[in-house]
Amino acid sequence: MEIREILSRHGFAFKKKFGQNFLTDPNLLDAIVSDAGVDEHTTVLEIGAGAGALTRALAKRAKRVVAFEIDESLRPVLHETLSEFQNVELLFSDFEKCDFPALEKKLGPYVVVANLPYYITTPVVMKFVEESTQCRGITVMVQEEVALRFAAQAGTPDYGAVTAAIALRGRCELVRKVPRTLFYPRPNVDSAVVRVTFGEGNVAVSDARAYRAAVRAAFSSRRKTLENNLIAAFRISREEAKAILADANVPEGVRGETLSPADFARLVEAISAHSL
Ligand code: SAM
Repeated sequence: MEIREILSRHGFAFKKKFGQNFLTDPNLLDAIVSDAGVDEHTTVLEIGAGAGALTRALAKRAKRVVAFEIDESLRPVLHETLSEFQNVELLFSDFEKCDFPALEKKLGPYVVVANLPYYITTPVVMKFVEESTQCRGITVMVQEEVALRFAAQAGTPDYGAVTAAIALRGRCELVRKVPRTLFYPRPNVDSAVVRVTFGEGNVAVSDARAYRAAVRAAFSSRRKTLENNLIAAFRISREEAKAILADANVPEGVRGETLSPADFARLVEAISAHSL
C-alpha cells in the first residue's frame, strides 16, 4: 500500500500545526508493533492515526485498535487504508479534549502505541503517567531529544522532572533511534521510540502526589541546591530542610537533578514524616 500515492490521490494537504510527519517504511512499522509487545489479546490506543500506516500494522496483530485523529480531512484517506479491518475504531477528535476516565472505561486494559505529534508529546505522556488506571505500557515515537530526556539517568543533563515522574509508573527505555529520512514529509530532527513498561522497575511510594510535589520542588530552580528548593517550595526553615535531607539519607548541598527516583521516594517519606 503506497501511502504517498493515496494521499496525493485524495489531494491531501499536510498541516504543520498538527505535527503531520507520516511513517511509510513497513519494516519500521512492524518493528514498532513488536517493540510494544502487541499480540492478539492486546487493546491498543493510538493517538494520531494520520494516513493509517501504523494503525494498519497494529490492526494486523492486535485484538482491537482505537485511534484518535484530529484532522477530519484524513477521513476519506483512512476510510481507504483501513477498509479491510473490522477491529479498528476511529475517533475524529482532539485526544487532549477527550473524557479520559470514560475512554479508559471503554478500553479496559490497554497499551498506547503512537507516532506522536511533537507539539503535545510531553503532556500526552504525562497524562498516562499521572492519570491512567488501565494503561499497561506506552510505546511512542518522539523527537530524539525528548526520548533522551524521558529515559535519562539521574545526574545527567537530560534528567528532569518528567524522567522522575515517569519512573513512578514503570521502566523507561529508548528502544530504537529513527532517522528523519524515514518520515514524509521529512522533519528537521531525528526521532526515537521510547517504551514505558508500567509496573516494572517502578519506584514504590505511598503518596504519588507528594512524590510529584517533591520532584517539582527539586527541579523548580536547577541552579539552587535541593535544600534551598525545599525551603522555597514548602516554606520551611533551613533546620527543617536539613533534618528532612538527613532522614532521607540525602547529602546536604546536592542539587535535585542528582537524585534518583528511589532517592525521591525516600525524600517523600521523610517529608511526610515531618508532616509538611
Ligand atoms: N500515525 C501516523 C504515522 O505514523 O504515519 C501519523 C503520525 S503524525 C506524527 C501525528 C498525527 O497526529 C497527525 O495525523 C495529526 O493530525 C494527529 N494529531 C495531532 N494532534 C492531535 C490531537 N490533539 N488529537 C488527535 N490527533 C492529533
